[in-house]
Amino acid sequence: MPTFGKVATCTSPAVWMVEGYSGTGGTASLDRTVYACQRHQVTAEAQWLRGLIPESRPASGLHWCGTFTDYDPEASG
Ligand SMILES: [Zn+2]
Repeated sequence: MPTFGKVATCTSPAVWMVEGYSGTGGTASLDRTVYACQRHQVTAEAQWLRGLIPESRPASGLHWCGTFTDYDPEASG
């Protein structure tokens, strides 16, 4: 089961959904997504992904900066 949380006290709406991958190519696994406002996109990629490989996409819908989802590594392989 994914776990949800918030890593920042920022109250801005997110404009970026930053995905964090471990591994590369065909074995890459999406381990975490975190939403970030424009000001925190760099922070999200550098810190909030805990070293995962970042890939930012425009956020769709209303989300708040700093909210993240961790995916179960066993469930995703
Ligand atoms: Zn923010």
